[in-house]
Amino acid sequence: MKKWIALGLMMIAGLSGCTLSDGSDESITLFTQRHYDVDQQLYDQFYEETGIKVNIVSANADELMNRLATEGEDTAADVLLLVDAGKLHLASENQLLQAVESDVLNINVPSQLRSPENLWFGLTIRARVLVYHPDRVSPSELSTYQALTEPEWEGRVVTRTSTNIYSQSLTASLIAVYGEAATRQWVRGLVNNLAHSPRGNDRDQAKQVMSGEADVAIMNTYYMGRMLTSADPFEQEVAQTLRVFFPNQETTGTHINLSAAGVTKYAKNVDGAIKFIEFLSSEKAQGIFAAANYEYPVNPRVEMDDLLKSWGPFKAQDINLALLGVHAQRAVIIMDEEGWE
Ligand code: FE
Repeated sequence: MKKWIALGLMMIAGLSGCTLSDGSDESITLFTQRHYDVDQQLYDQFYEETGIKVNIVSANADELMNRLATEGEDTAADVLLLVDAGKLHLASENQLLQAVESDVLNINVPSQLRSPENLWFGLTIRARVLVYHPDRVSPSELSTYQALTEPEWEGRVVTRTSTNIYSQSLTASLIAVYGEAATRQWVRGLVNNLAHSPRGNDRDQAKQVMSGEADVAIMNTYYMGRMLTSADPFEQEVAQTLRVFFPNQETTGTHINLSAAGVTKYAKNVDGAIKFIEFLSSEKAQGIFAAANYEYPVNPRVEMDDLLKSWGPFKAQDINLALLGVHAQRAVIIMDEEGWE
């Protein structure tokens, strides 16, 4: 509902050529895929500090990118914020973003977490891990994504469908690190060991492990945090019972993805847009922005949430995350050819 009000207001603002408040305020328009209350608090704080108001349009990644492409020069959007580095890469390939030179961003965002051409910048990190039931699995039995293809895991693993972007980006990351042939073998072995046809979202994967349908799920860390504070008692129980394991720690690292933002190609307020992304990467904003969804801050000087600390430090895949987009198409083809439903 909220987003349609925002959309409506934006269209009025666009038609009248003025900002939403008293007309004297500077503003930027944010196209975002994120939808957390705390994000709004940060945008309010940004306004208090800079006098720049943030108009929000929220929708999913493809809707926002389609709209940017369709609107072209006429778009009101100054900043595009998505929750998958591969999608940001696609946006840059489709000429929807512009390069930004910012010393602040270069310091706050490590180089592998931003586009090589400075077209987008990571803001929060999510890790795709193994979640297991401690009654049925000892952490000593777990090691890598690849080990899940061994015979002892037959019928014991669950994960999401191949149409899901998280599955696609994980597979793309393995292509980046191991190449296509090895990744194809991994997909084949994983499909072979699945407990059943993939179904449901990340939370459902955990619930399937809880209920005994499987012993290990591949899922994003932050859903464990979100279920821990869920209003649903079963979700709380799931999060309290199951355990997180970071795969590939002795080898190539755990797959990570990003919330990331870029300045749109036809931004009307480029300076405001850069200031906004700089603000979200700052030490002040990062703790709140990342903790809102139990994600890891990109800014290495920022402390992480207590729950994340309790899972301990981990090694991430050492690749530039633009590669998730570079290999996305091949990932989808391989998953399809190997029968990942
Ligand atoms: Fe998610």
